[in-house]
This record gives sequence, structure tokens and C-alpha cells, in this order.
Amino acid sequence: MKKLQNYINGKFQAPVLGKYIENFDPSKGVVFSLIPDSDAEDVSLATEAAKAAFPKWSTMTLNERSEILLRLSKGIEDRMDEFVAAESLDNGKPVSLARQVDIPRAVSNLSFFATAILHFASESHYMEGVGVNYTTRKPIGVVGCISPWNLPLYLFTWKIAPALATGNCVVAKPSEITPYSAYLLSEVAMAAGLPPGVLNIVHGLGASAGDAIVKHPDIKAVSFTGGTATGAYIARTAGPMFKKLSLELGGKNPNIIFADCDFEDMLSTTVRSSFANQGQICLCGSRIFIERTIYDKFKTAFVEKVSRMKVGNPSDPSTKQGAVVSKGHMEKVLSYIALAEEEGGTILTGGNQVILDAPHDNGYYIAPTIIEGLPFDCRTNQEEIFGPVVTLCPFDTEEEALMMANATQYGLAATVWTTNLKKAHRMADEIHAGIVWVNSWLVRDLRTPFGGVKASGVGREGGWEALKFFTEPKNIFIKS
Ligand code: NDP
Repeated sequence: MKKLQNYINGKFQAPVLGKYIENFDPSKGVVFSLIPDSDAEDVSLATEAAKAAFPKWSTMTLNERSEILLRLSKGIEDRMDEFVAAESLDNGKPVSLARQVDIPRAVSNLSFFATAILHFASESHYMEGVGVNYTTRKPIGVVGCISPWNLPLYLFTWKIAPALATGNCVVAKPSEITPYSAYLLSEVAMAAGLPPGVLNIVHGLGASAGDAIVKHPDIKAVSFTGGTATGAYIARTAGPMFKKLSLELGGKNPNIIFADCDFEDMLSTTVRSSFANQGQICLCGSRIFIERTIYDKFKTAFVEKVSRMKVGNPSDPSTKQGAVVSKGHMEKVLSYIALAEEEGGTILTGGNQVILDAPHDNGYYIAPTIIEGLPFDCRTNQEEIFGPVVTLCPFDTEEEALMMANATQYGLAATVWTTNLKKAHRMADEIHAGIVWVNSWLVRDLRTPFGGVKASGVGREGGWEALKFFTEPKNIFIKS
């Protein structure tokens, strides 16, 4: 059985205590590899390596750093098939999705920030007759990057690329549930000539390895993507240490559909925005609000399309829904479906675990599920389920749609469907969210600010925002 290792100081290293965790293939429910169960000692070794590498890495020319990061990007691209297979095996997502979205996006994250850094400039503020201020932006030092399991390499590289590009050295932890593509990235880093210690990848549990990153006094900033409860814990822990924090957390995103939308475009996009990656994308629209005049038409068409989605082996090209990520997560999602029924909801399609033929009969499959008849403020409509489950809710007026859309603790993303330009602007303006898509979903431009409001997070990633997060500004005034 494959035994993954930590990547510390440019080499593979076994965990100090020699302990390993089982890593499951969710499509079959079997263990396929072991990963280091690292703890604070491994994080300390990684941090020491990063500190030692920092002076040289941070003073390299931008072009030198850029070239190395471009080699990392190319290194993933050259092993595309291997990365695609690893991501699907680890996460349960359809191979087709890993090929279209996850791995190409990891390639782009690295090449985007490798070149963005060449164009990043700091500000100068001229004071007529008084002097000039100029601002320098220096790397922070050693930074921690902690990422979740839903888009493993996509989100891992989304953090480490800007961190490295700006000259920081990194101690990173992928989710222990999906470590494989980050492990392959260590191989790519070695082949690409990334200097030892610049990037260190420590595998292990959040409560031990993750926590050690958050608490290490020499790790000066933490960029975290994951659940809101974990984010709150990290903020409580790192806040008093005055660490810089970027927290990208959960969502319960509204998808608001007006009667005047382009119905066919809305319908096919809503199938995707509800169920892509088995609904395990923080941007999925899990609460669908539909103007009452088209509620029945929408419901019939949506249920018909969704009930035809094939749940199956992730390697089968015709599969639309693969496995959810773990047994524990499957049980959590199924328990929310049971809660929805207790709360008075009616299941229109799905609602059950799906048992496939051998060898996938122990995999973690859930039929895409649509529920109606629930009040907007019940637990099912308030808590993040993060699985293939959406609720339908009719509305009569713009005000009512907005009120219900905004009535959660979250504020990550929202989708609005209307051909009325003024209405689109009004809604986009009033929705509590960091990202609003009008007549579209998940169209991403890596230059734009990415992140949420309220319990969906603190700070923004993407473009200049990420480069600013990973640098410390200093203003210098010179008298004229
Ligand atoms: P978790 O919060 O459970 O975990 C995220 C990462 O943090 C994992 O690597 C985890 O390790 C680690 N971790 C857990 N506990 C600690 C701790 N005490 N200290 C430090 N690190 C810790 O989230 P999930 O992995 O379950 O991911 C799903 C969540 O991520 C959803 O809520 C989703 O909305 C959110 N998300 C947000 C996005 C955004 O951009 N806003 C994008 C994608 C997902 P381990 O795996 O061992 O638990």
C-alpha cells in the first residue's frame, strides 16, 4: 500500500513519531494509502526549514521566482492524467470534473501568480510641497496555508502560489481526507528545482498538525479555507498572537430566480450550481428561491433533469454524480435529509443513499436531492449541508426574496436570474455576499476579489488581494 510522506526541506520525510492515518477511496469505501499523522514536532521541523530558506528565497529576483513557479505549473500540466486520477481517487469526484476543473485550475493558479508578481507594484502618495510617501511591500516570512478536501489541489495552490510568489516560505497542510495531489505536488516541486525549505507540506489531522501550524510562534500569517467553526477556533487562537489571518469559510448560498429569466439557461446552470462536485463546493447555491409565477414550471423541469443525473463510479465518463468525500460526511448529509423531513419538508427526488454494484458497493453515494415546503428560517435552510441537497422556496416580491436570501449567518456567494437590468443591479447591491453572479454561476476571473462576508470569512483572496495579504506594507515619507 502506498505510504505518503511529508515534504520537508526539499525531501520526503517520515513523521517523527512514525504514526500514519488510513486514507480512503470514497468510491469503494476502502483504504488505498497511508498518510503521515504528523504533529507539532513535524511542523517545527518544517518551520525551521522554511526559516532557513527565507532569506535567499525572499531576495531572489522576481523573474527567478516567477520562472520556478512556472516550472511548478508546467510540472503539474505534464502529469495531468496522474493528477486527475489522484484527485478523483482521493475525493470521489468524477474524473471528468477533475480533468475539466480541478487540475487545470491548479495549473492556472501557479502560472497566474507566477506572472502576476511581475506586475505587482506598490503605491506612492505625493504631497505637493511637502514630500513623498512611498510604500514598500515585503514578504511576511514563514506563512501557514491550510486547505479543505472539496477542491484539494485547486484550493491548495490558490494559497501557496501567491504566498511563494511574494517571497514567503510556506508550511502547508492539505486536508487529511484528500492529501494525494499535494503529495504529487511535492514530487513536482523537487523536479522543478524549488529550493529546499521554500515549500513544506505536512500531512495530518487538523486538530494536531493544523493546530500546530496555527500556534507556531514563527508562522506569522495563516491562510485558511474550511468550515466556519474551524475558522472561529483559528481566529481565537491566532488573534492574540497578532498573526495575519485570511479565513475563507462556509456558505449557504441563495440562488434567486425571477420569472423574467432566460429559463433554459437558468435551468441547466442551476443543475450545475446545485450539484457540481456532489454539491461540495462552497459556492454551490443550496437555497433556491423561485418567483411564485414560475414555481411549478421550474419545479417540474428541475426535478425531471436532476432525477436523470447518473450517480456512479467516478471513472465512468457518463457519471454526473460521484461519491461524497467520506463515510462521516455521507452520514452527516443523510442526517440533514432526515432533519428536513422532520421539519416538514417534502423530498421531490433523491433523499437516499445509492448502493452501486461491486466493487463500488461500499462507496459513499447519495442521490441528488431536492426538497420543498420548508420555511426559510428552519435549520435545514440555515445550516451548511455541503452535499447534494437543495431546497426550493417560492417568493412573491423582490423584497421577500432579499429578506429570505439574507436571513442566514453566511454571506459567501449568490446567484440572481433576471433579464431586467435594473432589478439585477438592485438585487446584486443588496445581497449580503462577497460574490454575486447574475445570469451565470462560477465564472471565475483570478484577478477578482474572492471571499465572503459575515460568517463566511474574513479577508479576500485572488489577484492583488492575495499578493497584499502575503506582504507587509511599510510607508516611508521623504521630506522634499
Ligand atoms: P474543516 O474546517 O474541517 O477543515 C479545513 C482544513 O482545516 C483541513 O485541512 C482540516 O484538517 C484543518 N483543520 C481542522 N481543524 C483544525 C484546527 N483546529 N486547526 C487548524 N487546522 C484545522 O473543513 P472541511 O475540510 O470539512 O471543508 C469544508 C468546509 O470548507 C465547508 O464549510 C466549506 O464551505 C468550506 N469551504 C470554503 C471555501 C471558501 O472559499 N470560502 C471554499 C471551499 C470550502 P482535517 O482535514 O484533518 O480536519
